[in-house]
Amino acid sequence: MKKITFAMLAVVIALPVYASDTITVYSARKEHLIKPLFDAYTEKTGIKIRYITDKAAPLLARIKAEGRNTPADLFMTVDAGNLWQAAEEGVLSSIDSKVLQQNIPAHLRDPENRWFGLSVRARTIVYSTDRVKKDELTTYEDLADPKWRGRLCLRTAKKVYNQSLVAMLIAHHGEEKTEQIIKGWVANLATPPFSNDTKAMEAIVAGQCDVTIVNTYYYGRLMKKKFHYKLGIFWPNQDSTGVHINVSGAGVTTHAKNQPAATKLLEWLSSAEAQGKFAGLNMEFPVNPAVATDEFVSKWGDFKSDDLNVSSAGALQGAAIKLMDRAEYH
Ligand code: FE
Repeated sequence: MKKITFAMLAVVIALPVYASDTITVYSARKEHLIKPLFDAYTEKTGIKIRYITDKAAPLLARIKAEGRNTPADLFMTVDAGNLWQAAEEGVLSSIDSKVLQQNIPAHLRDPENRWFGLSVRARTIVYSTDRVKKDELTTYEDLADPKWRGRLCLRTAKKVYNQSLVAMLIAHHGEEKTEQIIKGWVANLATPPFSNDTKAMEAIVAGQCDVTIVNTYYYGRLMKKKFHYKLGIFWPNQDSTGVHINVSGAGVTTHAKNQPAATKLLEWLSSAEAQGKFAGLNMEFPVNPAVATDEFVSKWGDFKSDDLNVSSAGALQGAAIKLMDRAEYH
């Protein structure tokens, strides 16, 4: 038997805790949406992926607290507002990748390449097919019209999705006009805002209100279970700014131990091979235009989406929060 010398042992001990064929991901995207992708990647490449999941804010706080010692190579989360925040706080590294630039349209990634959208979510209008005729609906702005008095349900303004929606309205209209729109929404509310999108849609079914604004995958999840619900999906702003969209996405961390491998994983997630599943598992839309939308989702029809860079949702987030507060949308 070969004798193990002290020097040999020292080499073994000096090895990093995680070998270079392991990538660590901190993910605010839920486990059941990422695990099948990570398993497929490991199968294909032999590279192992460790991950933890939590909400975006605690994960971001953890990366900051861990500083140089963070095991996180990749930070994955939903909403451009959250991705923008992470970049702003300096925890994401700028990645120069032709693959990412080719696979992901420019308005769905950070202009400074610190984060990249991996799936698109549309925040659109859902309505009662019993009490609303489709041609009564036009735009987000029109939901401020007195004809919707006592007929509108909304999710709370505390949710980043609504902060991003209002931020994009500010980007298009400026603060003054946007404040009038939000005040109009508040005046039209049938009930106080709900804690989530599904509750707002359930309120329509219960007859409390006639219209709401939700992310389409919540509509998809609900209708897959409750297909008898008389709820329709409507694509607003087709003659103007387009449907408000946002992304889930990811960025390589500033102190990644394995930056090239993390970049490769990110590139793969944007590829035709991974995109269908990445978007489809959550009934979202692929960012990669070469990839077809999930069959169930594509039944909702084509729509024009807002082509403003989603990073505006982050840049104007503070202004949006203050504006919603002034308009007493809570
Ligand atoms: Fe969500």
